[in-house]
Amino acid sequence: MSLSKFPGPGPRSNPKNRVILLAALLVFLLIVTAVTMALSMNKNAGEDSDAEAAVVVTPFVPPPTPVPTPTPLPIDIPEGKTMEKVLIVIDPGHGESDPGTVSPEEDLYEKDITLDIGLKVRDILTEAGINTILTRDNDKRLDDSDQKHDLWLRAQLANVSNATLFVSVHVNAHDLKLKGARQVNGMEVIYHSGKQSMYDGFDSKGFAEIMAKAIQEHNGINFRGLINNDFSVLRNTRMPAVLVETAFITNQEDYKRLKSDEFRTNTAMGIAEGIKRALEAIQAFEYEGDLYVFKQVDSQ
Ligand SMILES: [Zn+2]
Repeated sequence: MSLSKFPGPGPRSNPKNRVILLAALLVFLLIVTAVTMALSMNKNAGEDSDAEAAVVVTPFVPPPTPVPTPTPLPIDIPEGKTMEKVLIVIDPGHGESDPGTVSPEEDLYEKDITLDIGLKVRDILTEAGINTILTRDNDKRLDDSDQKHDLWLRAQLANVSNATLFVSVHVNAHDLKLKGARQVNGMEVIYHSGKQSMYDGFDSKGFAEIMAKAIQEHNGINFRGLINNDFSVLRNTRMPAVLVETAFITNQEDYKRLKSDEFRTNTAMGIAEGIKRALEAIQAFEYEGDLYVFKQVDSQ
């Protein structure tokens, strides 16, 4: 009998193969253990919510789209001040049964010119993102039966609206009975000095100076100067206010200007520019897309 008939120590008895086999067995055992543990954990979890799991079908909920939350900039409101939205009130003089001054030929009324310029100013400011309202945007007055009350209501409209600045638009006339009356021409800007200032270092007189310069730059009119007067709309408004006497309807050159759309547009651009410069002077600032100013609390 030959020994060779018996299998000798084959590949299985090779020590290297034995290590591989052991490693494979170990990996297999690990997998079995892991699967068993996983199944057991699943079962436990399932036991707690079996009833619900039977009926509740969890709908697919898409992950929420992240919406950037705007973080408002911290605003330091100075002591004794309030933070108020910018609002400009434009007051086209006269209206309805009150034509204001009338040209010598009686073909041109102050009330129509002031309304046209006022609407133009509003459009320019609105375009620039500056909130503006008019005391009238058509021929109607706030009170057509009582001139004094009408003027008081115009000022009150600005006060209750918490306006930032107030601009009244008018047309001048000279008494034609006086000698040389027709030669008087140009612009006057009127303010009232007896008002408490709402903004640091800025009052109605400063506003009038800025306004006169801006208008003159835009329409080139002769500037006659600033006048201090306690007109109702200037006296009764709480914010800095000016009254612009744009030109003299009784002067031939000014009359032609007042009749032209070019002059009215340039005047409106000048008034709008004067307002923008005044807003810079009172340090108006943008916050979350709106313009604001700080006002003295005791001037409210
Ligand atoms: Zn007037």
